[in-house]
Amino acid sequence: MLAGGLETDWKQRAYEDADVQRVVAELKKLAPDDLEGRLRIGGFTLTPYVGEEDPEIEQACSTCMYYELHKKYCALPELDLYAEPEWSCILWRI
Ligand code: SF4
Repeated sequence: MLAGGLETDWKQRAYEDADVQRVVAELKKLAPDDLEGRLRIGGFTLTPYVGEEDPEIEQACSTCMYYELHKKYCALPELDLYAEPEWSCILWRI
């Protein structure tokens, strides 16, 4: 879906607690099998996010606290999906 051009909310970075809570609340409204919704609301990208104001900031699943590298898996309960290490989403955390 991502490679096919699915548009996601990747620009809406969730840095503040209120933003995280908003995104998580939106994800919780989705049906369990709504993968497209999780990708869209989660703001997934196929490449690491690089900060627009600070190019030193690079966010990829591989460096996220929720990523299980050996399984290639995002363990954040509201996402709960397979992910490649170079992908990224707006809920990235270190
Ligand atoms: S929260 Fe986002 S960046 Fe972190 S592992 Fe899951 S999908 Fe990747």
